[in-house]
Amino acid sequence: MYTFNPGPAAVYPAVRQYLQDAFDQGWLSAPHRSEKVISLVRQTVADLKVKLNIPQDYTVLFTSSATECWEILAQSLTPRRSFHLYNGDFGQKWLKYAQAIRPESTGLQFGLEELPDVARLPFGPEDTDLVCITQNETSTATQLREGFILNLFNRLGGALLAVDATSSMGGLNLKFIKADIWFASVQKNFGLPAGLGILVLSPRAVAQAKQIGEKGHYNSLTAMLSQMLNHQTNYTPNVLGIYLLSRIMAEREPIKTVHQHLVDRAEKLYQFFEQATPLTPLVANSETRSTTVIGLRGEAALIEEIKRRALEQGLHLGSGYGPLKSTTIRIANFPAVPDAAMEALVQFFVKEFPG
Ligand SMILES: *Cc1c(COP(=O)(O)O)cnc(C)c1O
Repeated sequence: MYTFNPGPAAVYPAVRQYLQDAFDQGWLSAPHRSEKVISLVRQTVADLKVKLNIPQDYTVLFTSSATECWEILAQSLTPRRSFHLYNGDFGQKWLKYAQAIRPESTGLQFGLEELPDVARLPFGPEDTDLVCITQNETSTATQLREGFILNLFNRLGGALLAVDATSSMGGLNLKFIKADIWFASVQKNFGLPAGLGILVLSPRAVAQAKQIGEKGHYNSLTAMLSQMLNHQTNYTPNVLGIYLLSRIMAEREPIKTVHQHLVDRAEKLYQFFEQATPLTPLVANSETRSTTVIGLRGEAALIEEIKRRALEQGLHLGSGYGPLKSTTIRIANFPAVPDAAMEALVQFFVKEFPG
């Protein structure tokens, strides 16, 4: 059985052994103020920085999910308003969460085949705290590439750039230096079970959080940052999740290698589906479509039949998301999905649904 669901996604087979080790080595009841857990956190943060090319002067925090990160940013880094650029469900949800806390927050929706014009974005650099983008929009299988993020970063004025990289961090070689806030959760490109979020802050974002000094919530950034100085958290963290992450990071190849593998595989998959199947890529523009989530489009009846027959053969394809639920399929091109799974997927289409 292979799963291509883009989240919760396939976990590494090694997780089975890591779970056993976690139990046997006493991690499941290790006190979170103990030296054992403190050094685990220290080591995991160090490995994340090395393996993902996160600058040494950035701060890594652990949360429970990417959704929690949305809320933390609205609470603790947005005294006035945030501006959100989105083209799918996750980006739009982020805007809604932000507006629930900071009602003056605004957004701009853009098309799947389109790169927004950075020079004409409707936000005031003087009174906007955060500019928010979704680097990889999992629901529409689109992506904002490095060049766009760099352009945006250069036009921020006083605002900070916040990037939802939930379905790309751990898979793509992100240029952390070109934004102030990045976050993700581990059930996507990290190949781990859900329940742990990773929040990465630039020195500028940390300084801003301290200056704002918001303290009204259990997960206020001020408290999280001061605890993390000692590699601790303000509540009992998901020690099992952090342990699993530490094992995965220790095994991981450098992100450049992982990135290239995913880019090559995505290109082959898009080409195959375009030429040899009755499906077409959901996004035609090769500059805006995602590397890590392959979106495919077709008639609802065909999509349903493909999903059903694939499942019979042990291939669990990802459904569309939100309004695209019945007319699209999503294929996670994540590092924990083995090449053999992609090969099985291609063979299935060659045999059952040739174009
Ligand atoms: C999955 C996903 C989320 C939500 O992640 P949780 O860990 O469930 O909170 C947010 N943003 C994007 C882009 C996602 O793909």
